[in-house]
Amino acid sequence: MPIATRAFAAVAADKPLEPYRFDRRDPGPDDVAIEIKYCGVCHSDLHIAKNDLGGTRYPIVPGHEIAGLVTAVGGNVSRFKVGDRVGVGCMVDSCRTCAACQEGEEQYCVPGMTQTYGSADPLGEPVSQAITQGGYSDRITVNQDFVLRIPDSLPLDAAAPLLCAGITTYSPLRHWNVGEGSKVAVVGLGGLGHMAVKLAHAMGAEVTVLSTSDRKKADAERMGAKHFLINSDKAAMQAAAEKFDLIINTVSATHEIAGHLNLLARDGTMVMLGLTTEGMPVFAMPLLWRRRAVAGSLIGGIRETQEMLDFCAEHGIACDIETIAPDQINEAYARMEKSDVRYRFVIDMAKMA
Ligand code: NAP
Ligand code: ZN
Ligand code: ZN
Repeated sequence: MPIATRAFAAVAADKPLEPYRFDRRDPGPDDVAIEIKYCGVCHSDLHIAKNDLGGTRYPIVPGHEIAGLVTAVGGNVSRFKVGDRVGVGCMVDSCRTCAACQEGEEQYCVPGMTQTYGSADPLGEPVSQAITQGGYSDRITVNQDFVLRIPDSLPLDAAAPLLCAGITTYSPLRHWNVGEGSKVAVVGLGGLGHMAVKLAHAMGAEVTVLSTSDRKKADAERMGAKHFLINSDKAAMQAAAEKFDLIINTVSATHEIAGHLNLLARDGTMVMLGLTTEGMPVFAMPLLWRRRAVAGSLIGGIRETQEMLDFCAEHGIACDIETIAPDQINEAYARMEKSDVRYRFVIDMAKMA
């Protein structure tokens, strides 16, 4: 029996999201059926709903920061049982055979991971569902290998955004070996940015936030930032030259990045996380004189996502959230576009009409 599912979907780039009903597949032998309790609202959801990147297929149910409870498992599933607290992030499957998958970096799967929403759905949702549909919904069925365990000490609502904002910032902090004494700058204090601050601080780094205004200064300090700069303050930017080993750039829009390169110390790297499609000029001179680099990073693999959840439990870290009802999603998007989020909206599915 397919699982009747209530959701909110984007139906066109210029229309508000609206209630949407569809069926999820009944769990197969390797599947876990989940009742979604909470889903975080990522800026990527907004990019896809509004077709910022091109190619969005409608209707689409966004949402890839899913936290809920297991309601049923298939016959081959031994790691999860009914009632377990679980999470699902940005991926629900991958090819499993390419080098990236074999190394546990499924997000870089060569033929392409199956994204939680908007990917061709090889398993085929039963009712006219050619693409996967995400977490702004009350039910989901996911292959057990792409289900994460949410530690008991983390509240489900504040843990939900860890499934994207958490892993997307944890992975580059680990990859670039952030530890005791590292100097890390975080550009943009939104959903990703606030997690980057908390995680880098917990790893022992000295953290600086670069923001467009001073509105979030007190919050940044509470999260563990030692310094706070306004990007447009030329004198402050000048004074911070050559200071940072790593810059985590979470800005969700095209912006001037050349001026940030001088902030990097020798061998420093700026990691771009924002999903922007326009070019942003970078000049060779500031790079070569200090062997600096500009890099990118995409979410993180399943094994690393579990490691991040366990790290958060161990360090008592979760997201700062503002809980909303599903029908407040359009208002939440409007506020997100104004950078007015402290620091992640999370949809409470119990409030689904
Ligand atoms: P968010 O909560 O909206 O935060 C973005 C922040 O960027 C804002 O709070 C603001 O910070 C700053 N900002 C926005 N517009 C700006 C502009 N025009 N100039 C300068 N700063 C600006 O977004 P998010 O959910 O953290 O996502 C951030 C970006 O990462 C999005 O593009 C998202 O799609 C992408 N993303 C990528 C991955 C990945 O795997 N690489 C994963 C998830 C999300 P201040 O208020 O501090 O200035
Ligand atoms: Zn996301
Ligand atoms: Zn693969």
